[in-house]
Amino acid sequence: MTRYIFITGGVASSLGKGIISASLGKLLQARGYKITIQKFDPYINIDPGTLNPYEHGECYVTADGMETDLDLGHYERFTGIKTTRDNSVTSGRIYLSVIEKERRGDYLGKTIQVVPHITDEIKRRVQLAATKEDLDFVITEIGGTIGDIEGQPFIEAIRQLKWELGPSKALNIHLTYIPYLAAAGELKTKPTQMSVKQLQGLGIQPEVLVLRTEHELSPELRAKVAHFCNVDVDAIIQSQDLPSIYEVPLNMLRQGLDAVILRKMGLEPGETPALGPWRAFLERRERATEVVNIGLVGKYDLQDAYKSILESLAHAGTYNDRKVKATFVNSDGIIRDNVGEKLKGMSGVVICPGFGSRGVEGKIIAAEYSRTHDIPTFGICLGMQMMVIEFARNVLGLKDADSSEMNPETPHNVIDMMEEQKSVTMKGGTMRLGSYKCGIVEGSRVRKAYGGESEVVERHRHRYEFNNRYSAGFEKAGMRVTGVNPESGLAEIVEIPGLRWYIGTQFHPEYSSTVLRPHPLFMDFVKSCVEYGASES
Ligand code: GLN
Repeated sequence: MTRYIFITGGVASSLGKGIISASLGKLLQARGYKITIQKFDPYINIDPGTLNPYEHGECYVTADGMETDLDLGHYERFTGIKTTRDNSVTSGRIYLSVIEKERRGDYLGKTIQVVPHITDEIKRRVQLAATKEDLDFVITEIGGTIGDIEGQPFIEAIRQLKWELGPSKALNIHLTYIPYLAAAGELKTKPTQMSVKQLQGLGIQPEVLVLRTEHELSPELRAKVAHFCNVDVDAIIQSQDLPSIYEVPLNMLRQGLDAVILRKMGLEPGETPALGPWRAFLERRERATEVVNIGLVGKYDLQDAYKSILESLAHAGTYNDRKVKATFVNSDGIIRDNVGEKLKGMSGVVICPGFGSRGVEGKIIAAEYSRTHDIPTFGICLGMQMMVIEFARNVLGLKDADSSEMNPETPHNVIDMMEEQKSVTMKGGTMRLGSYKCGIVEGSRVRKAYGGESEVVERHRHRYEFNNRYSAGFEKAGMRVTGVNPESGLAEIVEIPGLRWYIGTQFHPEYSSTVLRPHPLFMDFVKSCVEYGASES
């Protein structure tokens, strides 16, 4: 009895399809429905793991170890439901499985074609989640924009599914843009009309239109769009810029997005969902006006590259009754002479994840500065590794200490390639990925931050690790390993107990912070930043 909702986009990219999908998921979930949200991306890469963040933003990692699109992060942060490898599908994965089936001989005698073979595989994947658990709704977001060549098989698959399942089981929401022409002083509907025509030309009549706009849409304009696009007026929803993405579900609720969908699919909307804790979060967020400044030391001067970290800081900020102002500090430009200036006024520093050597010396200098000035510091993955290298060089006196990622010849490989990675030659999907256990040492700061838990589970994405041969020296000099994988002995957390808050994690806590369950380490870090900020002023 699963119902399918497809979300497509037109006119331009970056209109917020991911947020609309996550918001709709949130509303249906709040009405008691069992849902999942998935993203189908038309590009040919098997996954975004091999993409530069400049191309596609952050690579989000699921608990089961799939490198996926950053929209999955929104789905989890909004709904609290963990996604899996089935929730992120690319053309590359679709083609790969069809080609593997062809080689196996599954289609013997047949010519393999986009229709029906590729489209059948897309349809199978769309419905896969519902074969594994009982789901009321599967929301499928299609990446890209109507008209993209590589998106065509996906649109064709939706057309077929809509026809096969019927209007009560499958529905399309099309998200478009209503630009404002300042010179004419007018909002323009033509791009939306053309985008819907294009969709209709491919055999899909959208039931709902979500119009992204920077200005309020008048009833006349809505009526005009409805009239030209064969869509009911009450199914024209406006999506205006809001101060926070977390206000979008309430905005959609006010306009009846979920109710109109339910009615069109033959379900009685019933009671308005209460969304109590969600509203409480937003109210608390609004009350938290006092700012805490946190510097983000990384090499990608692009917000989307650190999406989950920014969101995790924002969640923790709200629950600490503060507004986190995250300032990006490009590690590529940090040198000894300017680090004080660059980190001036920061109540905390995050040393960001990353790959390759560009900008790492700047991260090391930042780590040294925040360690010697006792500024709360959170190193994540590569950031943790740079904290370790800095400590080795400047406290242990191992001048050439390095990661074998940056300098394979280093005499002091305090960060070294993990043993199981040494035989790996393929790049795609071969890192240590997904959830692993981490035992937390008693008496440590992290143990307290985790509320006394002796074991936690966190997500990973790395090839290199802390070299345990050096651990005794580090411990003696004051940097302790306080989180260890119980099976492999791999160091997962380091901290300097003598400092306010100086903690590095090999794992990525930012992947599991949600609106209603902020991550305990981000909570504790921001708390410490607030206290430090207060003591400084
Ligand atoms: N490049 C480092 C490694 O592979 C860190 C990876 C990361 O920050 N995600 O171990």
